[in-house]
Amino acid sequence: MIKISADLVLPMDRPPIRDGVITLDEEGKILKIGSRDNEAPNTIKHYRGVLLPGWVNAHCHLELSHMRGVIPTGTGLIPFIKSVVSQRHFEEDIITRAISQQDTYMQSEGIVAVGDISNLEVTAEVKEKSPIRYHTFVECFDLLQDGEEADRQSEGAQALLDRFNAPEKNKVSIVPHASYSVSATLFRYIRENNPIDATISMHNQETPDEDRFFIDGKGGFPGFYRDIGVSIDAFQPTGKTSLESVLPHLSPEMRTLLVHNTCTRRSDIRQAQAHFKSVYWATCPNANLYIENRLPDYRLFTEEGANLCIGTDSLSSNWQLSVLEEVKTILRYNSYLDWQEVLKWATYNGAKALGMDGELGSLTPGKSPGIIHLDLDISAPNPIDTLCHHGRVV
Ligand SMILES: [Zn+2]
Repeated sequence: MIKISADLVLPMDRPPIRDGVITLDEEGKILKIGSRDNEAPNTIKHYRGVLLPGWVNAHCHLELSHMRGVIPTGTGLIPFIKSVVSQRHFEEDIITRAISQQDTYMQSEGIVAVGDISNLEVTAEVKEKSPIRYHTFVECFDLLQDGEEADRQSEGAQALLDRFNAPEKNKVSIVPHASYSVSATLFRYIRENNPIDATISMHNQETPDEDRFFIDGKGGFPGFYRDIGVSIDAFQPTGKTSLESVLPHLSPEMRTLLVHNTCTRRSDIRQAQAHFKSVYWATCPNANLYIENRLPDYRLFTEEGANLCIGTDSLSSNWQLSVLEEVKTILRYNSYLDWQEVLKWATYNGAKALGMDGELGSLTPGKSPGIIHLDLDISAPNPIDTLCHHGRVV
């Protein structure tokens, strides 16, 4: 039996406990959460600062791990996408080595679960062996080409789904890339061909061009399609935002994870919350700063009672795959946010978004969520600013 305590224990599914004590078995399963008053002091290891559950990285592209520093910052989304597509091809051993290194790095950071976008099967082996639990999102896009291209995409996705199906610790689903790259036919395939307990993820409103495209057919996307030689003559603007336009294509029954949301409006949040039984909003602030040099308006989400969670995106648009670094960025630019609430986004909400909250995401007896220590001064006005050390202790 292991007993550990801290100045502040954050269980996440219930209020914080000052001088809380966590009792675990040798495998890291939580047996009891309580207060120091009821324990003999010499049986407990005490930590300065905070203990909380392991991080959940709700949005990553592990297969792009070899692309650190390849694409310049601040280009905007459309040039960024073109760069990834044209520059992602490296020798296979460079790619596989980078994937393995970044999986190890995420473990060392205390990340216990990852929602990971896959266009290829190159991450499958690492995901099978890693102690991290992966929810793989097999991503499809047919560049709005109904018909043969939609069929080809759905067949390819099905083959990848099978490749990522094992082992049992992991999950997999087929998901749309984004509103502007998936046809109605492909959306229907995705609606009808997923495990009921899986999460559907979609990149959402990452650039103002996305809404422009749907509202009046202008912005950067018509030029993007022209440049890559794909006809979008059949595309009709809807007069609505991109999210409003594609909501009818997304199943209200499936747990849904919308990613980025940099340009999402209050009306979008309300409509999505009314549409889905369960919807989560992943923010990847460092990637937003890397690509578009802007951040979502978090106030809209907190005021609407939205479930926010945190992703790192890939190393093609970030400097590291660390959920803690994302937390620091959010708080640095949004000092009005409650730091404990942001830590909840980084743990509990992410676990729920991936459907892994039965095991992970909160300090609850019966779960094995991993325990993170943040060595900081809980009495400081901005405790995260005083962080001097962090690490996984269980
Ligand atoms: Zn992404």
